[in-house]
Amino acid sequence: MTSAVSFPAYLALSESGELARRAGLGYAAMRSCTLCPRDCRVNRLRGEKGFCGIGKIAGVASANIHTGEEPPISGTRGSGTIFFTGCNMRCRFCQNWPISQLRHGQPTPPQRLASMMLNLQKRGAHNINLVTPSHVVPQFLAGLAIAARQGLMLPIVYNSNGYEGMEALRLLDGVVDIYMPDIKYSDRDSAARCSCAPDYWDVVRPAIKEMFRQVGNFEIDEEGIGRRGLLIRHLVLPGGLSGSEKIFEFIATELSTEVPVNLMSQYFPADKAVGDPLLGRGITHEEFAEAEKALHRHGLTNGWIQYMN
Ligand code: SF4
Repeated sequence: MTSAVSFPAYLALSESGELARRAGLGYAAMRSCTLCPRDCRVNRLRGEKGFCGIGKIAGVASANIHTGEEPPISGTRGSGTIFFTGCNMRCRFCQNWPISQLRHGQPTPPQRLASMMLNLQKRGAHNINLVTPSHVVPQFLAGLAIAARQGLMLPIVYNSNGYEGMEALRLLDGVVDIYMPDIKYSDRDSAARCSCAPDYWDVVRPAIKEMFRQVGNFEIDEEGIGRRGLLIRHLVLPGGLSGSEKIFEFIATELSTEVPVNLMSQYFPADKAVGDPLLGRGITHEEFAEAEKALHRHGLTNGWIQYMN
């Protein structure tokens, strides 16, 4: 899994002016917002807000070096994570609910976003890791266009819930180096009940295929740091709500068994999941073992397994 890619692809788009053009297209889509599958059609340029609760200016809750991501993302010096305020899903168990749902954070215009990226680069981050960016793709592109002109050289990691609009993903073609989406559910009722997104399974499959088309298999450099490609996260939920088997089947048959999957066990009831009859408990060892068996059954052995304590 070594790569010949020595600099991020967006630098060429920056030089040609394409990055700024894409940002412009993204802002135009916010005039009657269709950036994500919610299709709210509100005018965010005039400050109207749809499901994600964010208007024209992106919000950022924090921009910091994070060492707890997957090994090729955190590397030795950490990943430069930018946590965006708001979200286009509403997961009852969200561990970041003050940021995603209460929208804690500071309004962050593109110039400020660019400064954050450049500062993370100065601090030694291996990459810029956009956390929950699906609803602020144009604002990110505008910030990146400035940062690239001012010397940003780090690869971009797109760390999302997988509930993506195709229009936004096309704007990111040649811009994002590493896609790191969740696949949360394969079942309509679970996605509706837990995240207010009944069409999640219908949306996430074409979205992930598009990501894979753009960046392909995961590649690392000679030091083991991710440079390009797709890796997928899957959190096991209690009571089979996450529908793991179908998700692994999809990855293996419609993408590739080479795609790294991070199988995660750290579910705990947070926010609205506390006291919920289905979500109000942690997962059992048996539930996690079942998910792990399914992962192996489909030949997905290229990722990581975060075992239970
Ligand atoms: S990005 Fe926000 S406003 Fe636009 S469609 Fe999605 S949820 Fe609605």
